[in-house]
Amino acid sequence: MAESKRDYYEVLGVGKDADDAALKKAYRQVAKKYHPDMNPGDAEAEKKFKEASEAYAVLSDPDKRRQYDQFGHAAFEGGAGGAGGFGGFDFSGADFSDIFGDIFGDLFGGGARRGRSQGPMKGMNVRKSVRVTFEEAVFGCEKELDVVLKDPCPKCSGTGAKPGTTPETCPKCGGKGQVVYTQQSFFGTVQNVQTCPQCGGSGKIIREKCSDCQGTGYVSNRKKIAVTIPAGIDNGQSIRIREKGEPGANGGPRGDLLVEVSVSRHPIFQRQDMHIFSTVPISFPQAALGADVKIKTVDGEVLYTVKPGTKTDTKVRLKGKGVPSVRNSQVRGDHYVTLVIQTPEKLSAEAKEALRRFDELAGNSLNSAGTGNAASSGTGKKRKGFMGKMKEAFDE
Ligand SMILES: [Zn+2]
Ligand SMILES: [Zn+2]
Repeated sequence: MAESKRDYYEVLGVGKDADDAALKKAYRQVAKKYHPDMNPGDAEAEKKFKEASEAYAVLSDPDKRRQYDQFGHAAFEGGAGGAGGFGGFDFSGADFSDIFGDIFGDLFGGGARRGRSQGPMKGMNVRKSVRVTFEEAVFGCEKELDVVLKDPCPKCSGTGAKPGTTPETCPKCGGKGQVVYTQQSFFGTVQNVQTCPQCGGSGKIIREKCSDCQGTGYVSNRKKIAVTIPAGIDNGQSIRIREKGEPGANGGPRGDLLVEVSVSRHPIFQRQDMHIFSTVPISFPQAALGADVKIKTVDGEVLYTVKPGTKTDTKVRLKGKGVPSVRNSQVRGDHYVTLVIQTPEKLSAEAKEALRRFDELAGNSLNSAGTGNAASSGTGKKRKGFMGKMKEAFDE
């Protein structure tokens, strides 16, 4: 009897070194092909299905697989199993449900539909997006969204049936919305619960449909929903507005409205988390001599004193001028400013003269170039050419 059993690896069509994933994949294929639901009344298919299930049950269990590899089918003989049964090992409890849930989930539409209940169910969430300016994100704002939502049809009070008629209880499922298929298999009685094909899960049959909602029981309404965007919200973050989504079923609450915020770019400010960054141009004299400069922040202009001798790319921190925390608007980030020294492109003759004079005084005499140190060396000619060009550029 046991000797006539096919090799488990052969049954699943895998090699002796097959790993868990390969086993599962192989079993999934065989189980799909021979599952009794797919082959009603086919005894041969059922036998093959049981054979494959048994093979998978053994090979997917490391201990049992080791025993099988060592002793073959003899490892499981002498137990309580009958013909086509499971021999001497226990195949109940978690093992079974794991395999079943895992492998058959996709065969029969998964647990979600299987577990469809007639109790109150929350409605679907609705997603919307809203665009705000940089400043609106920093300080918060109020927005009004146009949202199309379903409501129970007022004409039929949500039943979907023509006024004066009532929906009938579905004869196929008796109003439960789901049907249970029972079958015998090697591990006992198995129940498959599926959505009732006749009523689509509602448990009711509508003979004459309501003309307003075409029997759905719902009508769509355009609604204006006010959204408070909190100060400090960042691009891509969402706000949940409870129970402003699609209606629930069987007295369940509405779903939620999820509003995703997208923040527009700002021409001068960049943001990273709670901090703001910007670049502020200053003139060379301002950098050299020091000056009070106006710096734009989200709170308006602030006066900042540039120290004498400031270098370009100097970073300045304006404490507390950043973005408020979305959790606590009393807490604010900082504003980091990069001071960049600008080189003038257009100068009056007078300004040029002043610059030349400055250069001389600073000891970098432009006019003496070529006649100074450079001229005394052999490479003087080249240098003169370069400085000459510089001079021409300033003379233009
Ligand atoms: Zn209606
Ligand atoms: Zn039904």
